[in-house]
Amino acid sequence: MNNRRNFLKTAAMASAAVALSSFTGKPEEDESHDNLSDGKIRKPIVLSTWNFGLKANEAAWEVLKKGGRALDAVEAGVKIPEGDPTERSVGYGGRPDRDGRVTLDACIMDEMSNIGSVGCLEFIKHPISVARAVMEKTPHVMLVGDGALQFALAQGFPKENLLVPDSEKEWKEWLKTSEYKPIANIENHDTIGMIALDADGNLSGACTTSGMAFKMHGRLGDSPIIGAGLYVDNEIGAATATGHGEEVIRISGSHLVVELMRQGKSPQKACEEAVLRVVKLMKNRNKDLKDIQVGFIALNKKGDYGSYCVQSGFNYAVYDETGNKLINPEFYIK
Ligand code: ASP
Repeated sequence: MNNRRNFLKTAAMASAAVALSSFTGKPEEDESHDNLSDGKIRKPIVLSTWNFGLKANEAAWEVLKKGGRALDAVEAGVKIPEGDPTERSVGYGGRPDRDGRVTLDACIMDEMSNIGSVGCLEFIKHPISVARAVMEKTPHVMLVGDGALQFALAQGFPKENLLVPDSEKEWKEWLKTSEYKPIANIENHDTIGMIALDADGNLSGACTTSGMAFKMHGRLGDSPIIGAGLYVDNEIGAATATGHGEEVIRISGSHLVVELMRQGKSPQKACEEAVLRVVKLMKNRNKDLKDIQVGFIALNKKGDYGSYCVQSGFNYAVYDETGNKLINPEFYIK
């Protein structure tokens, strides 16, 4: 805890210097004990981004509590916001791109490093299940656009209109100015990224989103990109991201978090360092940090977990045997 408090203090006082120095030396030994489970493995456990993660975790927990596989849990979990027409940032009901088209991105990764992903997929309510089908039924790992739709239809997924009246109204309002400026922490939810450790000690993750509202048609964010929006290494841990996908891709965010855990960092420390990398690259490019949000959540093989983000407003949900709770993580901009 002390270490972390010092870290945050230093970050606030000399952020640029910290940002530069923390990536040069050898990794320090990590003494942060935030959320550590005292030698015991905390399993099963599931984490997911934003407040809609609470409901999603419940669906995942139904699988986990019966000894089910983490892969099945994360798919079941993220399907909850995907299927909810009142959620404006994931699946059915998601905000459209600037041409009025709802285009969805999703990826999934299991404990054996099987991966599947879809990008810019239209008309399919559950892109995460299409991503899983890409993983399990094709020789490829990623399908996009028309090809992804063609594959989904061939697999029997129904073709549906995903643009709900409220999203269409927002889009028509947006068209009046057509000014593209992503809003940090829009309505307190965005992409759902979910990572879980099952009773057998195996990790999996899923990530799904409608992406940035009013994006250019064809734009992909981090969420369908394995290594950016999601990464799982069953020997080490798992991480997922939300926020400005362009900034997450720039640092290969979720892979970076997992690699930092491999070097001995706790999930908390790993998320902090990845966010500092985002901060550093924004500063190097003279970009205003206040315009963006990036948040990571991470979980290791012991069931320790952590999170960190650029600015306040991000939260995540954790469900373990003690119950389901929402956590506001620490953030960089004070
Ligand atoms: N990461 C998503 C994207 O860039 C959106 C978000 O999580 O805010 O598409």
